[in-house]
Amino acid sequence: METVDHLHPHDLKILTAKAVCFRTVVRLEEKLFTNDQGSESLAIRSRVLSILSDLELFAAAKIKDSEIASFLEDLAKTLEYLLGLYIENPLIRDEFIRTFRDEATSYRSIRQDLESWLQAMLQYARHYFEDSPCSLPNIQLVLGAPELRDPPQTESLSAVTHWTESGRQITLFLRSDSMDFESFFQIPYLLSHEFWCHALSNICEGIEGSVPVPWRGCDPQDAWEEGWMDHVQRLILLASDFPMPPHHLPCLVSPLYRASSQYEHARSDPSNGIHRSYGWSAAVLSASFFRQYFAAFKPDELLLDFSVKLNILKCLPERKGKALAFFKNHLSPPEFGNDDALSSDRNMLERRNRLFRRIAPFIFVRSGTKAASIELIKFLSSLEN
Ligand SMILES: [Zn+2]
Repeated sequence: METVDHLHPHDLKILTAKAVCFRTVVRLEEKLFTNDQGSESLAIRSRVLSILSDLELFAAAKIKDSEIASFLEDLAKTLEYLLGLYIENPLIRDEFIRTFRDEATSYRSIRQDLESWLQAMLQYARHYFEDSPCSLPNIQLVLGAPELRDPPQTESLSAVTHWTESGRQITLFLRSDSMDFESFFQIPYLLSHEFWCHALSNICEGIEGSVPVPWRGCDPQDAWEEGWMDHVQRLILLASDFPMPPHHLPCLVSPLYRASSQYEHARSDPSNGIHRSYGWSAAVLSASFFRQYFAAFKPDELLLDFSVKLNILKCLPERKGKALAFFKNHLSPPEFGNDDALSSDRNMLERRNRLFRRIAPFIFVRSGTKAASIELIKFLSSLEN
């Protein structure tokens, strides 16, 4: 893994300063709730966030020549002064500043933050490659300058993944001026999306024989990658055994969870793309089906293994879409007006049972702890409908 940094040093400092502030707010809130002072926490949060958005502190002239450490120390002094004007309890203000300085020392930079998230994803991805003939691609992380995007980027976050000679290149564009509390905690979700959905697609020899398969890493029309895999990568990111970076303290899990869920639901809304929404809902239905029918077989792991394997196989998108549709067709509620309530209930149960009978042999006959995912994929894509 390597990182290429095209962010302006000015933006890098602002992003790091904001990250330190947002993390400090969460850490302080946890302390306040532990000490039964939770009612103070909302006031602190809104005050710090409004200082951050109003402050001229981030003007380029002020931080141009300073190192990040001295810049953060200047910021600590300014925050101490401004918080003193608005927060009556000096103990809380002092605790904020103490926590801020501690964060400023341990957090280091947003670049290292992103690198450690990507390392965690690479580490977790390894076990999916143990029983496949290919290996993890080299990943290059690029911090892109949002002003260079065409058309100009208006959102706080965006990302794109490219195929390169040596592997995959994930570029994250972060706007320093509009980066707010919610967007900051959505960054790991976006990085995870690029990593699992796009960087790990079309790697292993698939089931197409000699048919060349174009790499379609970023096609939003591809329901598989954009919808199904988006839900799957969120399950991975928040899985109990995902190795979150050491600096991602337990109190930061809650804002990460909340921000990720908001982002996922916004992206899967049909108004933001019907293909993505279709793939996403198929994955959600399948996750609950696996949990119900394969409860004794680590159902989430079965779904993740099947999904990651299908994504890394070089397959024509139609074939991936076919496997997805197989689940969707067996799990969707009946269409409006086709049946009376009783017979449509019976019909749904029959379809779920049929799906179970089709895929159960690939799950019950397993080597070690893994489902026979690749055999299941070959089987599904060979079916007539
Ligand atoms: Zn995508």
